[in-house]
Amino acid sequence: MSALLLDGKALSLKMEAELAERVAHIKAKSGRTPILATILVGDDPASATYVTMKGKACQRVGMDSIRLELPSVTTTEQLLAEIHTLNANPDVHGILLQHPVPHQIDERACFDAIALEKDVDGVTCLGFGRMAMGERAYGSATPAGIMTLLKHYQVPLAGQHAVVVGRSAILGKPMAMMLLSADCTVTICHSKTQNLAALIAQADIVVGAVGRPEFIKAAWIKDGAVVVDAGYHPGGVGDIELKPLVDRVAAWTPVPGGVGPMTIATLIEQSVQAAERQLVS
Ligand code: NAP
Repeated sequence: MSALLLDGKALSLKMEAELAERVAHIKAKSGRTPILATILVGDDPASATYVTMKGKACQRVGMDSIRLELPSVTTTEQLLAEIHTLNANPDVHGILLQHPVPHQIDERACFDAIALEKDVDGVTCLGFGRMAMGERAYGSATPAGIMTLLKHYQVPLAGQHAVVVGRSAILGKPMAMMLLSADCTVTICHSKTQNLAALIAQADIVVGAVGRPEFIKAAWIKDGAVVVDAGYHPGGVGDIELKPLVDRVAAWTPVPGGVGPMTIATLIEQSVQAAERQLVS
C-alpha cells in the first residue's frame, strides 16, 4: 500500500503565501501592521527556539512581533501584569505565552488572563469551552493545525474511531474535542489507561501526543490506519515508531515536517484573523 504523506511543511508554505496576501490587505486598508506579542519566561533553550521560529514566521508573512523575555524567577503576579499590559495595548493583536513556564508560576492563571480576542494560541479555558461547544474561538494551535492538515488531505473523519494518546490542556484534550466535533468516535488515553496497545489496535486514526520518543509501537497500529505524530525529540523521532508503518498505513505525518510546521502556521493564521477582526472588520 502506498501511504499518503500528510506533508505539513508543504501545506504550511502554501498557508503562509495566502497569509502574506491577507497581511498586505490589512496594511493597505488600515495603515497598520498586525503584531503578535510573544512571551518567553526563563531560559529553556527549546522554548527560546520555538519563540524565535514563531517570530520568523511573522516576518515571512509581513507581520511584526514583539518579543518579551522575562527571567526564570518571574512571579505569577509579574507575568499577569505583563499580560494585562499587552491586553490593553491596541497595537498588539495576538498574544503567545510560550509553554511551559517555570514551576513557581501559575500557568493556568496566566493563560486565562489573555484576552479572548487576543488568544491566538487557543490556550484559555474560555476559548477551549467555546471551541468544544462549537462557538467561535481560536483553537489550540497544535490540534487545530492537525485538523487543518487532515481536512486538506481529505482524510475521512466522520464515524472513524480516533484514539488520542495524551490529554494535556494544549494538545490531547483539545485534539479530542476537535475530532469529536468532526464526528469521530474518540477514545482519550493517558498514563493511567489500561490495555493501551489493545485500544490503539482499534484505531482508524491514532494521534500520538505523549512526549516520549517512539513510545507508541508500530506493532500496536492496524494496517490502513491514519497516523498523526505530534511529538518531536532529539534525533528527529516523534512519539510514534513511524518507520515500520509507512508502507502499511493509509496516511502518516513525518517527523519533522508534519505537525510542527502546522502548529506555527496555525498560530500565524489565527493572529492574522485576530488582526483582521480588530483592524478591518
Ligand atoms: P504533556 O503535557 O507532557 O502530556 C503528555 C500526555 O501523555 C499526558 O496526558 C500523559 O498522561 C500522557 N502519558 C504519559 N505517559 C503515558 C503512558 N505511559 N501511556 C499513555 N499516556 C501517557 O505533553 P504535551 O505538551 O501534550 O506534548 C505531547 C507531545 O507533543 C510531546 O512530544 C511534545 O513535544 C509534542 N508537542 C509538539 C508540538 C508541536 O508544535 N509539534 C506542540 C506541543 C507539543 P497524564 O495526563 O495521565 O499524565
